[in-house]
Amino acid sequence: MAGAFWCVVEDDRKGTPKKVMAEVIGEAARLGGPVEAVWLTDKATDEGLKQLGAWGAGKVWLMENAALAPYRGETWVPPMAELAAKESPKAILAPVTSRQREFMARLAAKLGVGLSADSVGLTADGDKLVATRPVYAGKLLSKVTWAKAPFMATLRPNVFKPAESQAGKTAAVEKLSPTIPPAQMKFVERREEASTGLPELTEAELVISGGRGMKGPENYVILEELGGVIGAAVGASRAAVDAGWRPHRFQIGQTGRTISPKLYMGFGVSGAIQHLAGMRTSKVIVAVNKDPEAPIFKIADYGIVADLFEVVPELTKEFKRLLEK
Ligand SMILES: Cc1cc2nc3c(=O)[nH]c(=O)nc-3n(C[C@H](O)[C@H](O)[C@H](O)COP(=O)(O)OP(=O)(O)OC[C@H]3O[C@@H](n4cnc5c(N)ncnc54)[C@H](O)[C@@H]3O)c2cc1C
Repeated sequence: MAGAFWCVVEDDRKGTPKKVMAEVIGEAARLGGPVEAVWLTDKATDEGLKQLGAWGAGKVWLMENAALAPYRGETWVPPMAELAAKESPKAILAPVTSRQREFMARLAAKLGVGLSADSVGLTADGDKLVATRPVYAGKLLSKVTWAKAPFMATLRPNVFKPAESQAGKTAAVEKLSPTIPPAQMKFVERREEASTGLPELTEAELVISGGRGMKGPENYVILEELGGVIGAAVGASRAAVDAGWRPHRFQIGQTGRTISPKLYMGFGVSGAIQHLAGMRTSKVIVAVNKDPEAPIFKIADYGIVADLFEVVPELTKEFKRLLEK
């Protein structure tokens, strides 16, 4: 079947595509392409467009219009559905983010096609695609395929291999001026959550995770101090999230975020299979746990059997000393 693989751009709301787009574009290329990006935004930067090309998008369909921000399904879906009906892409892929989750579901309903949400694998089967996705809160993996194109899927971040950025590659940019329907919803006030000053969990190269061994929400401050010194994001296990110590967006694991940083350091995390499902592809794994039998030591590259409340301040002090040199 002809038709391109479309990658819906997730950006930082300031004109830069998020790093996760390298994974979506990389996967579209691996499945055979041709790879095209579709970017709905109020502001696209030249650097952002260049980056999409460098990752391997041959073309960018650009819908740049002030009415497209902030995201509202009723303003995004009609122009995108119109473009898809005209151009007949083979597939439409997007990363799992809160707005893409909603947008892709609404778009699939409008186009009358299926959506594989939260996909963790995609394979080509002749002209078709087969997606793998978790079901029953991650207890099982199911394989699904589509009755008709476009094959729509959201892709879980940090699962698919990212495309390498290649400086020489550029994308042809096709600027579109679609009619944007009036928004049904008006934003009265937007409040940005106070920044922790630490990197975002799924984008961070260094991640520190605190589990039930942290004993309470007030103790995460020691992890944040360590994170601040080395530039790491701070995540948590489900036990810590369920106890209300950290918001759910910080949960690492099968029913939380999947991460694949250069360094993962777990403090007071036992290493349950569901936690490992979200971090086992980390390049270097360090575990600190009082219990020498804790399962996390089986996959750790470095393990310290000790009380985290003694180890964390020592690490913070030592990193500070080394990095100040
Ligand atoms: C369907 C399903 C989905 C799930 N999804 C997830 C998920 O996405 N993410 C996730 O994390 N879990 C998930 N879980 C839960 C998972 O099974 C575990 O219950 C959870 O990961 C345990 O969290 P923990 O390691 O923080 O706590 P525990 O297993 O209680 O471990 C705490 C650890 O801290 C150590 N400790 C205690 N005090 C100290 C100290 N002072 N210093 C050093 N070490 C100390 C202990 O020795 C222990 O090993 C899921 C479960 C199910 C059934």
